[in-house]
Amino acid sequence: MESGVYMRRLMVLFFVGVSCTTTAVKFPAFDESALLRHIKALSSDYFEGRAPGTEGEDRTVAYIEKEFKTIGLKPVNTDGSFVQKVPMIGLTPDESMLLTLRQKEKTLRLKYLEDFVAWTRQSVPETDLQNSEIVFAGYGVQAPEYRWDDYKGLDVRGKTVVMLVNDPPVPDPSDPAKLDPNVFGGNAMTYYGRWTYKYDIAGEKGAAGVLLVHETAAAGYPWSVVKGFGGEAFNLVAADKNMGKPKVEAWISLEKARELFAMAGHNFDELKKQATTREFRPVSLQTAASVKFRNKMRTVNSRNVLAKLEGSTRKDEYVIYTAHWDHLGIGQPVDGDRIYHGAVDNASGVAALIELARVFKKQPKPPARTILFISVTGEEQGLLGSEYYAAHPVYPLEKTLAVVNMDGLNVYGRTKDITIVGLGKSELDDYAQRIAARQGRILSSDQEPEKGFYYRSDHFPFAKKGVPCLNPDAGNDYIGKPAGYGKKIRDDYTTNDYHKPSDIVKSDWDLGGLVEDLQFLWMAGWEIANAERYPQWKPGAEFSR
Ligand SMILES: [Zn+2]
Repeated sequence: MESGVYMRRLMVLFFVGVSCTTTAVKFPAFDESALLRHIKALSSDYFEGRAPGTEGEDRTVAYIEKEFKTIGLKPVNTDGSFVQKVPMIGLTPDESMLLTLRQKEKTLRLKYLEDFVAWTRQSVPETDLQNSEIVFAGYGVQAPEYRWDDYKGLDVRGKTVVMLVNDPPVPDPSDPAKLDPNVFGGNAMTYYGRWTYKYDIAGEKGAAGVLLVHETAAAGYPWSVVKGFGGEAFNLVAADKNMGKPKVEAWISLEKARELFAMAGHNFDELKKQATTREFRPVSLQTAASVKFRNKMRTVNSRNVLAKLEGSTRKDEYVIYTAHWDHLGIGQPVDGDRIYHGAVDNASGVAALIELARVFKKQPKPPARTILFISVTGEEQGLLGSEYYAAHPVYPLEKTLAVVNMDGLNVYGRTKDITIVGLGKSELDDYAQRIAARQGRILSSDQEPEKGFYYRSDHFPFAKKGVPCLNPDAGNDYIGKPAGYGKKIRDDYTTNDYHKPSDIVKSDWDLGGLVEDLQFLWMAGWEIANAERYPQWKPGAEFSR
């Protein structure tokens, strides 16, 4: 099709809002068996759970690179390579550490993994926190736009701040059974609810330690997932060796938090309740925290894998698809398996990325703009690969129209809807709306907004830099299944398989839904890459360019 005609029709669609047309580009076919083959391969033992800085990384990078080459995509580097090096520091804390909490003559000794998990992001061989005063700072949030400040001028330098996870749950004045939608997004989690935010702001204020109290519902995952934060952890190499971060970052179990508060003569639930109000003031627990551990250190050049399909008329402008290749590697055994296979998280996304690339390349003519396919590293370590790309983009982000991110895709069959995480933030939702309608489907907003998924995957570093992002998730309404089925399989996955060795290819998988979602995502990229103008954020979205 001649692109001018296509443009005009797209504009008509865009401005008149016609939701369906018979002359539009057809949804292309996707090969279900190829998708399954990639997922099986990447989640097999041979790839060792795909941790950065391991042989599993070498094998994974080689696999993706080979696929990109076979498809006939171009490398982004002049040297013909398909990788962007991402320098990281790996730190493995000594697991024999104890966290001691002392209040006058009383002492609590917490066991690593059982009661707490601690690490440092500072690039140092030894971490030593001694007798640091513990203060409870509520949810650890400073949000001027909500007139919220949990610190209230408290000097936390050298102290250890204990805080709650998620946003402060502020009751709605008109219906206290609900959360106030005008404060911290009501039931939806904002960036303030993320633990990364909480550690970072405490570090900026000079806190030496941060202890986050784990509560399954508020965190969005059980303690077993927190245990997985033990072992080697990676950070991007930084000039200041990350010395601006707290000396010790940790989670403690709810049970031990209750004991700590009780030992200090406070009631955990009472203080937690106070912390849901603006009037809350931080409380010293008159207790000293001590923990000491050695860190095994190594530097690794991990890799983002990138390839492009050059645009036909506007090749200096870009649409990006991302999917992280990394997972948790080899770790604590569960039911005798030590390999964290990460089939859904995120072999499914990588498989999708490869097959999207293949289908784009198959078109008789490429879209107007260049499509960039990026499989990023270090997502599980805190979005490191995507942070690195957003800080060191190979092509200017001002010329990047949109990012479509794929993380943990639908493997359970066709759905009448498709979920857009962060629905309502940008005009990409208008594309999504129109394309879903063409498929006879509808859009759903995030089913679990309280878990803050928008801030938990690789599109987020791009959003922070102002690039609008589309982050799809599985629909909820499965065809031919009873009501509640979507929620049930989602809950089952979170409880049983998420970040566990058992995230493997299962016999009851049905990739029909994945194919349909990929047709949707392909069309979104195709239309954005051919559109007249750049998609914009909606008024009030927090990341406008
Ligand atoms: Zn993950």
